[in-house]
Amino acid sequence: YDTYNEIELSIPDTMFALKARYDADKNGSKVNLAPGTYRDQDGNPWVLPSVRKATQLVMNSPSYNHEYLGIQGHQEFLKAAAQLILGKWSPDIASLHTSGGTGACHMGAVLLKRLFRNSPNPPSIYISDPSWENHHSVFRHAGHQTSSYPIYNTQAKSLDFKAMRNFVAQADPNSIFVLHACAHNPTGCDPSPEQWDELAQLFKEKSHIAFFDCAYQGYASGDLQEDVYSIATFSRQGVQMLVAQSFSKNAGMYGERLGALHIPCDSADAAAKVVDLLKYLNRREVSTAPRFASDIMTKILTSNDLYEDWKVDVATMADRMADMRKQLVDLLIRMKTPGDWNHITAQKGMFSYTGLSAKQCEYLTEDCHIYLPPSGRLSLTGLTTHNLEYVAKSIDFAVR
Ligand code: PMP
Repeated sequence: YDTYNEIELSIPDTMFALKARYDADKNGSKVNLAPGTYRDQDGNPWVLPSVRKATQLVMNSPSYNHEYLGIQGHQEFLKAAAQLILGKWSPDIASLHTSGGTGACHMGAVLLKRLFRNSPNPPSIYISDPSWENHHSVFRHAGHQTSSYPIYNTQAKSLDFKAMRNFVAQADPNSIFVLHACAHNPTGCDPSPEQWDELAQLFKEKSHIAFFDCAYQGYASGDLQEDVYSIATFSRQGVQMLVAQSFSKNAGMYGERLGALHIPCDSADAAAKVVDLLKYLNRREVSTAPRFASDIMTKILTSNDLYEDWKVDVATMADRMADMRKQLVDLLIRMKTPGDWNHITAQKGMFSYTGLSAKQCEYLTEDCHIYLPPSGRLSLTGLTTHNLEYVAKSIDFAVR
């Protein structure tokens, strides 16, 4: 059909394009500092031991099968997942099992679009500047207008809480803010507990809606509960919120696509209506979510022993990334690399927003075979004891 020829090619996704360049590079010392996936100390993908164990239990169970889930998803999984991220499950929480965190963001966006479809003034959706590169796309694709709110001080290479707070205070009431629950991607800069408290109060005063995107629970502090302080304090204040949950990173379920959308409501009746609408929308989108990972995760979340094992695995990942941060900064300081590098250790989670310029990143990629995006976002998980010195020396070269 001619109409196919009229398709305008889209701009390639920066991260996937960088990965293709890395894969094609034949140099033996190449390093990938771009991945959004955890790598072990040898640079390999890591199947969490707790997940491996739970997978075997699921497959050995006499009731193991690949039947469809219902439209809302895996019920036991949804309750356990809500418990994990909201600290409780109750009938006034509306939940939907989704295809990863992206699916949760998407379904939340589709729901909001539907709820405000007859409104002459639908609320603005604000996304942090910078943010996960897909946020604007996901919300716009669902038909929303999006704009940005400030969070980052480029000079100080840290959170600009004042700018963030003032923006929230000045936005029209009932605005929707997409908030990274913890381990902000790409900056690694999270508000402190006191700052979250202040934001929660402000959100309540302004009747703003918080759309929490939580893709890294456990990655900031190594502790699953500590990392959702943001959600807990908003919940205590009674702020209206949607919570997009991903098990891609903290359970290493990436390609298995496991996530959930949770919406705390005022009553069980309201929640039942929200669930009904979510099911109506989901049926038209994907019908039902993928099953296998939810069987595995349910085993982990509902068995004391496996849950304890999983907590250890999460801490193992967080500790390795924190250790790489520290070792990288120690090396840069030892080499007297120009600049102050302490922001790298102050940041949290999988990423460091290094402050390296696009030109310096391109130098690292072109000349040193070290791959990171032009934003200077460095994935700590790409660092290993084998490549750390090479990376530090190359950064030293790049900035001199
Ligand atoms: N939100 C953020 C902030 C992310 O960084 C990511 C993954 N990179 C996602 C959502 C999507 O996660 P998933 O792979 O579970 O769709």
